[in-house]
Amino acid sequence: AKEEGRNKVQHFDDQMLAKARRRRRISDALRVALPQQQFSLVYQPIVDLQTRKVVKAEALIRWQCPKLPGVGPAEFIPVAEDLGLIQEIGEWVFQQVALMARDINMQLAEPIQISINKSARQLTAGDSSALWLERLASLNVPAHWIGVEITETLLLDGRPSVQNALWRLRQGGVQLSLDDFGTGYSAMSYLLRFELDYIKIDQSFIRDVVRPRGRAIVEAIVVMAHKLGLRVIAEGVEDQRVLSILQEMGCDYVQGYYFSPPLAQADFLSWVQRESV
Ligand code: C2E
Ligand code: CA
Ligand code: CA
Ligand code: CA
Repeated sequence: AKEEGRNKVQHFDDQMLAKARRRRRISDALRVALPQQQFSLVYQPIVDLQTRKVVKAEALIRWQCPKLPGVGPAEFIPVAEDLGLIQEIGEWVFQQVALMARDINMQLAEPIQISINKSARQLTAGDSSALWLERLASLNVPAHWIGVEITETLLLDGRPSVQNALWRLRQGGVQLSLDDFGTGYSAMSYLLRFELDYIKIDQSFIRDVVRPRGRAIVEAIVVMAHKLGLRVIAEGVEDQRVLSILQEMGCDYVQGYYFSPPLAQADFLSWVQRESV
């Protein structure tokens, strides 16, 4: 038994070491990613459940790292935050999304809103709201073509500067979504304090709507959101069964592989044009 215990400790140490090493390699590679143009964005359609039309999309970052193929944002964004690189990356994402929104909406009859993921650290590092609104104006991009997705972590930050940054963005016409709803640790008090537009229910809840308890929770969130004047986006919808349950309970928008995975800009545009005829 002693031997076994030692093996377990050894295994644990090895795992920690491997993790630290991988993080180190990601850090080193991340520093050159932006200057070497290794980032790109993909866009996932968000469908209005009432009209079955694509009305929004979420921009998601991708990294073509020559040394670490296949590393996803869930892994490298937290590292970028620790390295203090998130601000720069975030500005790049914003610029790309603004240009993309202008580009595609010139070719579409009904404009589509593109949303950007904004990490908590990004907003606490400084208020770029005024700059963003100015840049949109100078590019002739109406602010309502852009959305920002924030998480509960961010709203838990009690600082007035953070609240003001969000308030200014929204005053300027940028819509706000509360991302990953239900996965945080907080109470719901921030729903009292913040003016938001959408709640995005995390896919861990959406998957479970096929079971009575899971369904009860999502249904309750939808009712609460509507009473607060918010609309609901369901994330990670992968099949027809989940989709029809969400439709029954009056969920407003859906996003997920059932409709489409995230797509490159050109593919996204042709997908939208095909879907809306
Ligand atoms: P998120 O904001 O919750 O994004 C949704 C994730 O679910 C995306 O993963 C998306 O590709 C994936 N997804 C979409 N539909 C389905 C589905 O039907 N089933 C399943 N299983 N997954 C689905 P992705 O692209 O790997 O992004 C992971 C996370 O990385 C995002 O979670 C977000 O927190 C972060 N992220 C992505 N892009 C950016 C960015 O530009 N800036 C910042 N700060 N964070 C980003
Ligand atoms: Ca998101
Ligand atoms: Ca999410
Ligand atoms: Ca997530």
